[in-house]
Amino acid sequence: MSKVRVRFAPSPTGGLHIGGVRTAIFNYLYAKKMGGTFILRIEDTDQTRFVAGAEAYIKETLSWCGIDPEEGPDIGGSYGSYRQSERKSIYKEHTQQLIDEGKAYYAFDTPDEIDQMREKLKSAGVLNLNYNSASRKTMKNSLTLSKEEVKEQIEGGTPYVVRFKMPDKREIRFHDLVRGWVLVHSSTLDDKVLLKSDGLATYHLANVIDDHLMKITHVIRGEEWLPSAPLHVLLYEAFNWEAEMPDFAHLPLIMKPDGNGKLSKRAADKAGFPIFPLNWTDPGSGETLQGFREMGFSSNALVNFLSLLGWNPGGDQEIFDLKSLIANFSIERIGKSGTKFDFDKAKWFNQHYLKNTNPEVLALELTKDLRDNYSLDCSLELGKQIIGLFIQRVTFPQEFASAAQFIFHRPQLFDQKVIQKKWNEESKMALNIYANKLAVLSEINGDKAQDLFQATMASIQVNPGKVLQLLRVSIMGEGSGPDLMKIIEILGPVEISKRIQNATVHFDHLKTALF
Ligand code: GLU
Repeated sequence: MSKVRVRFAPSPTGGLHIGGVRTAIFNYLYAKKMGGTFILRIEDTDQTRFVAGAEAYIKETLSWCGIDPEEGPDIGGSYGSYRQSERKSIYKEHTQQLIDEGKAYYAFDTPDEIDQMREKLKSAGVLNLNYNSASRKTMKNSLTLSKEEVKEQIEGGTPYVVRFKMPDKREIRFHDLVRGWVLVHSSTLDDKVLLKSDGLATYHLANVIDDHLMKITHVIRGEEWLPSAPLHVLLYEAFNWEAEMPDFAHLPLIMKPDGNGKLSKRAADKAGFPIFPLNWTDPGSGETLQGFREMGFSSNALVNFLSLLGWNPGGDQEIFDLKSLIANFSIERIGKSGTKFDFDKAKWFNQHYLKNTNPEVLALELTKDLRDNYSLDCSLELGKQIIGLFIQRVTFPQEFASAAQFIFHRPQLFDQKVIQKKWNEESKMALNIYANKLAVLSEINGDKAQDLFQATMASIQVNPGKVLQLLRVSIMGEGSGPDLMKIIEILGPVEISKRIQNATVHFDHLKTALF
């Protein structure tokens, strides 16, 4: 078998959709698994849809995900250029070959004339309104015009396209590695445009020529391209390349979280999650859409999550780093049916990878975040303590800094429900006694703080359950949160006793003002 060569072939028409990232990952995994080559090809033949910055965005995404191509634009390789807009002459030559062999033809029809043809067919009750083996006979093309007329039209500057002469009454069969045998009848297909009136190749033509010339062995792409595959198969035949035709693997659709239809930008917006891997600023509107990276996803988590969208490794294991993804990946285990995009699951992966990140690294990030975004000075030591405090509770790293604000600022607002329910003479006395006991200590660890609290409550015969939540509210303002005794350890006994004293004044005010 020849060496595996796969390509990721996005069109730079905007931000790379998360589904495209999955396609790139699957291509990469297969290439690496097979000891093959992963190639990036930019499919920019449609100049009307070209968006500045999209190519750079694609490359940055691949690099962030750790799936760098070995051949591609600006990387090089033996089969360049890897940008279709730089391959015009190749497409022209190949189109000419098809025309010379009678497999493609010039068509001079205006859009109006094509509309009229459709109207006519419609009123005659014809269901298939395609430009095809039947209707082409009634149109203005090199199959109906004489050689001289064709020459005249071309030389006279009449705009034209080149169409593929779709074979009549042909059954097209091909084997898809995911879907099995696919059978399509040529009567359902039209004479697709291969070369547009601006002289540029269409996606279909350029895609097939490039896959052949770049020696692509496997075309792994989204299911939305499955309907195009029969035409591609016929193009391979038309060029007499069928012996080297790549294998196809069409990946299952990524569905909305509720499984109702394809995941779209709108659906993602509505459900409140990104559709782009990195922040994407639309150059037209200037609007920036948040990416997974900026939301706080690690690339490991995103790659792990996306790999499992349609690929089932078998067994219970869900956590795979890139290396183990490569080791375990196989096309046979890609499913046919659509796969739901479960954002909660994505967050679960992120949490997992976050918990497994070196706390020192997280603490460094945190101290920087606090300095840059909150003008707060935080030692690395304190940073590590904060990380430990919240690690089980956060999904994204930037949550540490916001969650830790009460460490740096005494609370101004207090949970009124807790005060209403629990603040009374008894709990006030109990809290004050605990505060006084703390005030004389220079430091205390979590266990000792807990023992002291229990002992204090026992000595005054107060049920600790009546006081504990008030203690928390007095320290952090809120009625729930991470390990309270650890917080006492971090803030230290003197600060805690001050917070309690300060809070009790507020509690008294609140109780009289509100209830
Ligand atoms: N340029 C197509 C896209 O944007 C590529 C389809 C293919 O991989 O053949 O998705």
